[in-house]
Amino acid sequence: MGKVTVLRLGHRLHRDDRLSTHVGLTARALGADEVIYTDDKDDAMLASVAEVAGKWGGKFKVSYVEDWKEPLKEAKKKKIKIVHLTMYGEPLQKKISAIRKEKNLMIAVGGAKVPGQMYIAADYNVAVGSQPHSEVAALAVLLHEYFKGKELAKKFPKAKLRIEPQASGKKVIAGDRN
Ligand code: SAM
Repeated sequence: MGKVTVLRLGHRLHRDDRLSTHVGLTARALGADEVIYTDDKDDAMLASVAEVAGKWGGKFKVSYVEDWKEPLKEAKKKKIKIVHLTMYGEPLQKKISAIRKEKNLMIAVGGAKVPGQMYIAADYNVAVGSQPHSEVAALAVLLHEYFKGKELAKKFPKAKLRIEPQASGKKVIAGDRN
C-alpha cells in the first residue's frame, strides 16, 4: 500500500484556521495518510484536526514543520513524487494517469501566496480546471481522481464514533464496526 501525504503551505495563524483545518479533514476523509502543516505554528488548529482523527478512527498523522521545503527534500530523497495543485498547472485530466502510477505521493496545496520555488520543486504542477477556487476543493478532486472513488468506502478502524447513514435525520453511534 502506498502513502499519500498532503503538504499545506503558508498557514497563517487565525486567518487560515478554518481552511487549514478543512485541508486536514478533507485529506483524512478522502484517503490521504498524513497532513503536514507549514509556516505559522498553530497548536490549536493541529489539535483540532488530531482530535477529529482520534474520535473518528483510522490512522492519520498530523504534524508541523516551519519550513515548507523540508518535507519536499525528504520526499525527494525517498523518490516520492510531488504534485503541486495550482490553477496555473497542466490540466488534471491530462496528468492523472501518470499520477495514478505513483504508489506514494506528496500533494502540496498553497495558501495566500505560493513561492516560485514550489513550481520548480514539483514533479507535477496540476490544475483542477483553470479557474481560481480553493485548496480544499482542488485536493478533494485530486484525491477522488487518484483513488478512482474507492476512497469513499474507506474504513476507519478503532473509531469512537461512527455514522449510521440515514435517508433522513442523523444517527451517530459509539464504537467500531468498520
Ligand atoms: N494566489 C495564490 C498563488 O500564489 O498562486 C493561490 C491562492 S489559492 C486561493 C490557494 C490554493 O488553492 C492554491 O495554492 C492551490 O493549491 C489551490 N487552487 C486554487 N485554485 C486551483 C485550481 N484551479 N487548480 C488547482 N489548485 C487550485
